[in-house]
Amino acid sequence: MSKSDLLNAMMASLDPSRIRTDEASLTLLACDAMHPSRLPAGTESARPLCVVSPRSTAEVQEVVRLANAHRVPVIPLGGGSGLMGGAATVTPGVVLDLCRLTEVRIRPVDRMAEAGAGATIAALNAAAKPHGLTCGHDPWTVSVATVGGTIATNSLGYLGGKYGAMGDQVLGLEAVTPTGEIVATRAVEKASTGPGLHRLLIGAEGCFGVVTRATLRLFPIPQTRLLEGWEFDDFAAGFEAINALLQAGIRPGLLEYGDDDPSADHEPPTSLYLSYEGPEAVARAEAQTGREVCLQSGGQALDPSEVQRFWDQRHASGDAYARARRAGERRGRPEIDYVHVALPPSAVPAYRRESLKLLAARGFHVHQTGLWAYAGLFSLVYSGGGVSAMAETHAQLLELAQDANGAMEYCHGVGLRLAPLMRREHGEGLSVLRRLKRELDPNGIMNPGKLDF
Ligand SMILES: Cc1cc2nc3c(=O)[nH]c(=O)nc-3n(C[C@H](O)[C@H](O)[C@H](O)COP(=O)(O)OP(=O)(O)OC[C@H]3O[C@@H](n4cnc5c(N)ncnc54)[C@H](O)[C@@H]3O)c2cc1C
Repeated sequence: MSKSDLLNAMMASLDPSRIRTDEASLTLLACDAMHPSRLPAGTESARPLCVVSPRSTAEVQEVVRLANAHRVPVIPLGGGSGLMGGAATVTPGVVLDLCRLTEVRIRPVDRMAEAGAGATIAALNAAAKPHGLTCGHDPWTVSVATVGGTIATNSLGYLGGKYGAMGDQVLGLEAVTPTGEIVATRAVEKASTGPGLHRLLIGAEGCFGVVTRATLRLFPIPQTRLLEGWEFDDFAAGFEAINALLQAGIRPGLLEYGDDDPSADHEPPTSLYLSYEGPEAVARAEAQTGREVCLQSGGQALDPSEVQRFWDQRHASGDAYARARRAGERRGRPEIDYVHVALPPSAVPAYRRESLKLLAARGFHVHQTGLWAYAGLFSLVYSGGGVSAMAETHAQLLELAQDANGAMEYCHGVGLRLAPLMRREHGEGLSVLRRLKRELDPNGIMNPGKLDF
């Protein structure tokens, strides 16, 4: 059976208006936010066969069943804001655009939301707000990232330290397996009835099936959110304050820490932005302890207007990406690269030192080092060098993190870009993951090429 047989079969069993083959859709929806220069060597972009936009789980099931019968790849697509090429087409197939699955139902008494995979996080929050609830997941891309995409990448947001990553919000899932069965797990706070099948879909980047719907935990909108900012003499001083804060049992909502233009022989001052949130008395008490801790590490309070400005603008670059994507434009600054590695907190100082040395030796300029949400989630932003020097250096920085018992990425997933390092990341575990993949997806149709599966 050929690919055109599949197209004909889909035209016959679905409303044809759900299927697009026009050049503009095929070009735009064949990629996410990863710049093409970041494709691993030997991997090339491909033209999708078509884009299908189902309106229901049953339609998703029909597409997957037909694609499986015809042995044609399916590439799930949410908002297309992924940075690793997870939703990029490299093997011609059906782009399964899930953005029409937007229904959201709030269950206020349960503090839960039932959300279609295509609802954006902003839409989810808008629906929860009248009930005094919020989803707690607050990525830069809140206006474009979808429920399905954020679950599939186990995304992290500004408030992740207090509320958890997107995967932590998932109580139950409905999904279509690669062979076309619909599975739904029970949405409860906690079950002890065998391995939770829903967990298999979290962070799986569409390789184990298509998330169609999720039941998510919601949180009360905090009565009070106190924003605070502190300047420290150098990275080490602020790092000490963050660890002391966490050791004191304080859990800020926002924890954003970083410097500008550090180098192997220059330690600039750093800024720490924090929020204390919850019932007013609790937030105030936490803020008081936080102040004592920051002062003890030599911190100086920042002007509150500076912290407010940071908070107000925190989604600006995600919003700009969303606008550009809607306008059909490609964005991306391939000259700037970054890593977001997860380290044991004790490994952070040495990792930072070694990375700065490595980048200096190779003539790169470091724009920023920082921490997000936790003391061990470390990021670096740098520029310089050509495409191949950048790719080689990027891999070395990730390997350095793996060698420090860390994970090579903490929020953007693996996609295509980090796939070459999956064996190093998981060791024999990758073989086990591949066995699971073969069992669930015997014809290898779901998102081929991703995660090195
Ligand atoms: C400017 C900018 C800022 C960003 N900031 C953040 C941030 O703060 N935190 C963060 O974590 N990430 C951030 N990202 C990355 C991106 O927003 C996240 O990875 C997000 O979770 C992707 O969601 P999406 O709906 O756009 O998914 P997509 O990019 O469409 O897809 C991501 C992956 O999920 C799979 N997928 C999508 N939908 C489904 C589904 N329903 N079922 C199964 N698989 C599916 C795709 O195949 C792909 O592998 C940022 C990106 C940009 C461009």
